[in-house]
Amino acid sequence: MPIDKTHFFCNLPANSEIAEMKNRIIDIRNDFPILKQKVNNKELIYFDNAATTQKPQIVLDTLNEYYTKYNANIHRGVHFLSSFTTEATENARKTIQKFINAKSNKEVIITKGTTDSINLIAFSFGERYVSEGDEIIVSEMEHHSNIVPWQLMCERKKAKIIVLPMNDNGELEIEKLDNLISDKTKLISVAHVSNALGTINPIEEIIQKAHSKDIPVLIDGAQAVQHIKVDVKELDCDFYVFSGHKLYGPTGVGVLYGKEELLNELPPYQGGGEMISKVTFAKTTFNELPFKFEAGTPNYIDTIGLAKAIDYVQDIGLENIYKYETQLLNYATYKLKKIKGLRIIGEANKKSSVISFLIDGIHPTDAGTLLDQLGIAIRTGTHCAEPVMQHFNISGTTRASFAFYNTFEEIDEFVKGLERVHGMLS
Ligand code: PMP
Repeated sequence: MPIDKTHFFCNLPANSEIAEMKNRIIDIRNDFPILKQKVNNKELIYFDNAATTQKPQIVLDTLNEYYTKYNANIHRGVHFLSSFTTEATENARKTIQKFINAKSNKEVIITKGTTDSINLIAFSFGERYVSEGDEIIVSEMEHHSNIVPWQLMCERKKAKIIVLPMNDNGELEIEKLDNLISDKTKLISVAHVSNALGTINPIEEIIQKAHSKDIPVLIDGAQAVQHIKVDVKELDCDFYVFSGHKLYGPTGVGVLYGKEELLNELPPYQGGGEMISKVTFAKTTFNELPFKFEAGTPNYIDTIGLAKAIDYVQDIGLENIYKYETQLLNYATYKLKKIKGLRIIGEANKKSSVISFLIDGIHPTDAGTLLDQLGIAIRTGTHCAEPVMQHFNISGTTRASFAFYNTFEEIDEFVKGLERVHGMLS
């Protein structure tokens, strides 16, 4: 199906570039077996990438290969399988280190995902640095995973959460940050990209403002690393967290990056095997980084799978991904705005490829259910960001989120689907 360029005046690349991109997309789509499936007897259109991304064949093959040929618990064995898989896991850690440009592989802690990483820091940082009356700043657009762990810690420590507000475009009111920072502020924790609105936050400015007052910053990169090149050294953030499954990797594995000197100061989060140096009933001493924070058998095969996903993404190139996804976003935004009664929630100047919207008189759940009948997977509800919904005084949105394997033609089908929904329900 040809791209509908007649209605499309947003910043499109030249025709030759489109042709090249289209060829590449055909190859890329072939790498993702799930995209060839039919759902409800229709070609699957998968626009729920902010919830989780699909996995390329190379990741699926890697998981299968390791379970089939190389599985053995790591770090403990002297035998071939254990040594082989230990080396592959530690190489995967180095791939992750290079991907975010961390100074050392000691700064890369393997976790279960973003939520796990934030809980780890909320616990350990809280234990070490937070006392009664202290404050943690989060923003109004955070995912619950970057609110609730801090609330739990604040309850334990009798500390307080301070909220950096956003405006009605879904942009942080960064000019208010200086006034919110006080001598009680212990840490600032904000999303790089909002999952509910798509806003790309000015984290460089936030980090700079915080550091000018010696306050460390945690960045929730769950919605960023798959779209934007992240360099933790250049950002100078103190902690950066993300999930493997949103980066075309397996579920149940994620990353906590932390500056070595900070991680060294923090107490362990969980106790168990791997994280110890010596155990007696009188006293336990802890292992060095990164193992101090990796209690128990690590999720080593998914870690190796995640490194494969990173290789795959880097092969396409994050700059190419960002450019292409921005075209998808602009095209979809332009087309959606033509639908009568459709309101986009979150119109920040800088956005990643997420569009949240409402259509007058149509409940998001009804829209989502009817689109599903057409084989179109989108997400509806609060997107685990209830304070965002409270800001806009709405109960939820319909959200389409795009990945580099999505196409302009799929957006056309989605818009047609929405028009059908509109015709049926409004
Ligand atoms: N933060 C943001 C911004 C997210 O989008 C998500 C996932 N929706 C999370 C945190 C939590 O990620 P996970 O469920 O993979 O731990």
